[in-house]
Amino acid sequence: MSFDTLGLSAELLRAIGEQGYTEPTPIQRKAIPAILEGKDVMAGAQTGTGKTAGFTLPLLQRLNTKPIKNGRRPVRALVLTPTRELAAQVGASVETYGRHLPLKSAVIFGGVKINPQIEKLRRGVDILVATPGRLLDHVGQRTVDLSQIEILVLDEADRMLDMGFIHDIRKVLALLPENGVRQNLLFSATFSSEIKQLANRLLNRPELIEVARRNVAAEQIEQIVYPVDKLRKRELLSHLIGSRNWRQVLVFTRTKHGANRLAQQLGKDGLSAAAIHGNKSQGARTRALADFKNGEVRILVATDIAARGLDIDQLPHVVNYELPNVAEDYVHRIGRTGRAGNEGEAISLVCVDEQKLLRDIERLLKHEIPKQVLEGYEPDPRIQAEPIRNGRNGKGRSQPRKHTEGRNRSRSPVKKQPTNARRKPGSSGRLSGYGG
Ligand code: AMP
Repeated sequence: MSFDTLGLSAELLRAIGEQGYTEPTPIQRKAIPAILEGKDVMAGAQTGTGKTAGFTLPLLQRLNTKPIKNGRRPVRALVLTPTRELAAQVGASVETYGRHLPLKSAVIFGGVKINPQIEKLRRGVDILVATPGRLLDHVGQRTVDLSQIEILVLDEADRMLDMGFIHDIRKVLALLPENGVRQNLLFSATFSSEIKQLANRLLNRPELIEVARRNVAAEQIEQIVYPVDKLRKRELLSHLIGSRNWRQVLVFTRTKHGANRLAQQLGKDGLSAAAIHGNKSQGARTRALADFKNGEVRILVATDIAARGLDIDQLPHVVNYELPNVAEDYVHRIGRTGRAGNEGEAISLVCVDEQKLLRDIERLLKHEIPKQVLEGYEPDPRIQAEPIRNGRNGKGRSQPRKHTEGRNRSRSPVKKQPTNARRKPGSSGRLSGYGG
């Protein structure tokens, strides 16, 4: 199936062609016609499925069909995202797909100067991509008017709620014109009761679109667990990166402190690494990401929140240096690899303390992840599990949801598995579903 049949205009088809996309992804096939018809949409889709183009393309088309009155440019579409990085990426997509249209867009998020944003808004913007906090700063300063919004998109709504943005979202909703006039699109990887409540309030007879089974990891991602003692993880990671000659690896830690420390230690091992997390300035985050993308930095060490929404093309390796406390985050993490048709590998270094977290993840995935003990890195069977601590006070902001601290008391070390435990492409170790 090609893009031509979806009802998109010539300008948009041209921009799509320039991106080299030959056919729409499943979410695009379903979402584009529904949004073009003006329907509200509730879509279950993770990053990596092509969801951004799925809402950006029809949004651009709908805005472009209505002429600008008397040169006035009120903001007519608002996209809310949880993180600065995701806002920047969505903003870049709006620019890319809208390059042959006369529409103007702006991206606003915190951590950078507000004045250039004010200036841009003053000059007139059709599409605004924003994080909730900075958007409300602009509202407070009366530098943005949301009363003419025709299309509202909540992107990664589940993560926005996880990050505690529900009050900000409510405030923003109160500033928008009456529902019924407005088209509302909600994208979320998971559907908690909170998300359903928000959807009930916001959406008007929405079209429900689900492309990958909920919480199912992408089929292109090969997953493996290497059991290893906690104190030897860093050594094993350096060994894997060096001996397998990985050039671009995204590594997840549970805490900001852990991310910094690991990046420093890898640096001492002669491996170029940068850390990306919420305590870093926006400039430092953008720089680290750019260096990683252009190959100057080989390893990017990230916390869950910082990594959410990162779109790095063809990222071949994701390493869980520590398992996340929340099983869904595992799916988000490994979704950084194997994107849009590319193969990827997700490796987890799991120590005895993390057995409960691993079981939670396998329960969510509904299958076991193959395990392989690497020669020379066999876990010491005398080491017993200790409770997982989440940062110094157990309340790291990167894990705002429930965590399993203190409940992880598994005492059984992982059994040694034959080295062929790793499943080959196409075997049952691979999961079905497009997204991730
Ligand atoms: P998203 O899920 O929106 O974060 O998109 C994930 C990646 O897929 C991005 O790098 C997009 O550029 C890419 N992409 C989006 N649509 C397509 C398509 N139809 N064909 C190939 N790649 C795509």
